[in-house]
Amino acid sequence: MSSTTRTVRSAIEIVNDTVERLRLEYRHRGHQENVSASAQVGLFGNLSGAEVAVEQRIEVGKNGEYVSVRHAIAVICAGFGCTEPLIETTRNLIFDCDHGDITEQGRLAARQQAQAHAEKCRAMPRPTN
Ligand SMILES: [Zn+2]
Repeated sequence: MSSTTRTVRSAIEIVNDTVERLRLEYRHRGHQENVSASAQVGLFGNLSGAEVAVEQRIEVGKNGEYVSVRHAIAVICAGFGCTEPLIETTRNLIFDCDHGDITEQGRLAARQQAQAHAEKCRAMPRPTN
């Protein structure tokens, strides 16, 4: 493998890495405090060049009596003046299992929504100072 080869990580690898990191963080905090993070699993450009991202918001910690990993998948448009900047596609997709990718279906649906939004949204990219 040459040194110029770029590593392209799949969405599930990004999600799994984030879950793993959050599990460690949760343990380091003595299982007292829920921890959360967002993992970007898709990115589209809209008609004006603004970014429409698909994010998985992941939380590890107590949910009632049990420790679980919760996933919510959201489509976020960063376009300035966008009329629909946040589309929540799933909420509290709960699982506590390292096997398989049960978030795949939700992720694919979210990617389709992000693409559909990107194709009709005309909000401009936000200025970057
Ligand atoms: Zn938009």
